[in-house]
Amino acid sequence: MIARLDSPSAAAEWCAAERGAGRSLGFVPTMGALHEGHLALVRAALGENDRVVVSVFVNPLQFDDSRDLERYPRDLDADARRLDEAGAHLVFTGSLEQFFPGELVDGDLPAGRRLDPGPAARGLEGEHRPGHFAGVATIVDRLFDVVRPDRAYFGLKDFQQCLVVRDLARRRGGPHVVTCPTVREEDGLARSSRNELLTPEARAAAPALHAALRAARAAWREERIRDPDELVARLEDALGGSGLEVEYAEVRDPERWTVGRPAGPLARAVALVAARAGGVRLIDNAVLS
Ligand code: AMP
Repeated sequence: MIARLDSPSAAAEWCAAERGAGRSLGFVPTMGALHEGHLALVRAALGENDRVVVSVFVNPLQFDDSRDLERYPRDLDADARRLDEAGAHLVFTGSLEQFFPGELVDGDLPAGRRLDPGPAARGLEGEHRPGHFAGVATIVDRLFDVVRPDRAYFGLKDFQQCLVVRDLARRRGGPHVVTCPTVREEDGLARSSRNELLTPEARAAAPALHAALRAARAAWREERIRDPDELVARLEDALGGSGLEVEYAEVRDPERWTVGRPAGPLARAVALVAARAGGVRLIDNAVLS
């Protein structure tokens, strides 16, 4: 049976006891409303660690849009059930005040106490969601302090987040960050907690994101296109008429993050897209090379 704790301090004690008994800890941070994408991270963690710890915390610091935060799906009982079935050992949650005791001012963490997320936070998600990655880096850093895991697991669906977290872990001297492939629906739509919010019409339009990435991948692999502007044109063509409100469709070098589009010809490429489907913000990406 999975252990369930409602405070970071209780979770820290649980984790310290496991570490003290010589057991390795794998950690999967989440915001809940768990789906197969999250469970794939849990399974990867189970394969490499003695104990698997999952946090469920809808982190207000990383929401740039209060409406998005309000309507973010929450169901901790269902999450705990799923994690228990998957074989995770501990699920914990907490409030912002519990994560940052004595540090909040008017219920919020002042900007001066938020971490600088580093250069990978610039451009794309960082530009479209101001403050988002500072919020991510700040909570992930605190979560790492609580759990002190050997390995932490993140999904490549959030590609730029993986870069930010890798940099953070490097600066801290750990944990080892493991990135896992994106889990998709049968029609290609990346699994996301926000998919629950899609109307039937928006859900029908949403797979266009993945279709655009496939078009860019075909351009890279079959036509051997290496020009970033040409690859972006393929993304834009595929997204045109999809009914999605595109925020960005871009190409970057996955190993050398740049704020803007890199100059071609490219040796490596990742295509990244963000769009709203009926007001719900979705992101996706694919490594082309
Ligand atoms: P979230 O609950 O959305 O903050 O996500 C928690 C973790 O699950 C992050 O590392 C995400 O990248 C990862 N994740 C979310 N969706 C997927 C997916 N479809 N495939 C793989 N990992 C995912």
